Amino acid sequence: MRFSQITGYEDIKQRLILSEKNNHIAHAQLFFGSEGSANLELALAFLTYLNCENKTENDSCGECNSCNKMDKLIHPDLHFVFPNTATKKITGDKVMSKSFLAEWREIVTTQPYFSFPDWMKFLEVENKQGIINVRDGKSILSMISLKAFEAPYKSVVIWLPEMMNQSCANAILKLLEEPPEKTLFFLVSYNSEKLLPTILSRTQQLYVPPFSDEQVRAYVEQHAEGIINIDQVVRLAEGNMNLAIKLAGRQDNNLFSFFTQWLRVCYANKPSEILKMAEDFQKLGREGQKNLFVYGLKLIRNVLLQNVELNSMIRLTDSERHFIEKITKIMDVERLEKISNIINELHYHIERNANAKIAFSNNSLKIGQIFHQKV
Ligand SMILES: [Zn+2]
Repeated sequence: MRFSQITGYEDIKQRLILSEKNNHIAHAQLFFGSEGSANLELALAFLTYLNCENKTENDSCGECNSCNKMDKLIHPDLHFVFPNTATKKITGDKVMSKSFLAEWREIVTTQPYFSFPDWMKFLEVENKQGIINVRDGKSILSMISLKAFEAPYKSVVIWLPEMMNQSCANAILKLLEEPPEKTLFFLVSYNSEKLLPTILSRTQQLYVPPFSDEQVRAYVEQHAEGIINIDQVVRLAEGNMNLAIKLAGRQDNNLFSFFTQWLRVCYANKPSEILKMAEDFQKLGREGQKNLFVYGLKLIRNVLLQNVELNSMIRLTDSERHFIEKITKIMDVERLEKISNIINELHYHIERNANAKIAFSNNSLKIGQIFHQKV
């Protein structure tokens, strides 16, 4: 990964490059920001730059021996630790990052900006919770006890350090307190407030903001062919490049008409219509179903914002605005919040393999009841 492959973030790139030029590279750095921003990509591009044998003024060369190995994530001085869990193939004492390196290399190089659920799905354990266990803490200790083979530094990238269990976090803390020479620790976090304060205080912190709308648009236009509704994708993604890529991947991404039709069917409260819609819902596939809920929740949030007159925060198309005006007339905040909760729960169950048709039908009936409740 080179800096030039990451859209935007010019100030952060410059800051990192400058730290190398001034010989002020912190041995422990935390790249933190929300999911779908370029935390991991920036950390990797910086390491590639540091190890490059022929770096240019603003980037790694992309061609030397080191760049080649960094690109494939097979550099002998580059180590990774990330949340993991038992799978069909890997069980017992073998459950640690090292056992999943092939999969890790594949997802990092083929699915940029991937999220933790994407990673679990990639390992085909989407219903499990991964952690970073103490075996990973111990393996870091043995990795760094060796001298760097080829690069000026040994580097350890810890992806989602907030998922380290207590014993692993303690082992890492010791290393950060007494850093071994010529070793870099890059922590890449989506949820840094969950990190131990003692770990936070020993890292140099670098906030990686979400992408701007323009950056999302440019990236999606470049990577998604024949996208129909790019405005909708950009608005919904709100700077989360992972979400943007997923939304853009859907050909029939007319979420507005599906969602409003669904609410109409819930309102009509006729089981036969609900069942028919449940079939269409099933055809969306799991990702499409989740996108529908993410979209619906955002639309309802906009209705609620409208109620408290925060119009400046609303990013809507004309048809959405029109829909919101109508629904505001017939619905109060309390009921909208109840509907929102139901959609949130549906999202949760769909993510965990619930039967789409049954979950959709049952919850549509619940939404119908909320519509007709007397307040
Ligand atoms: Zn190079």
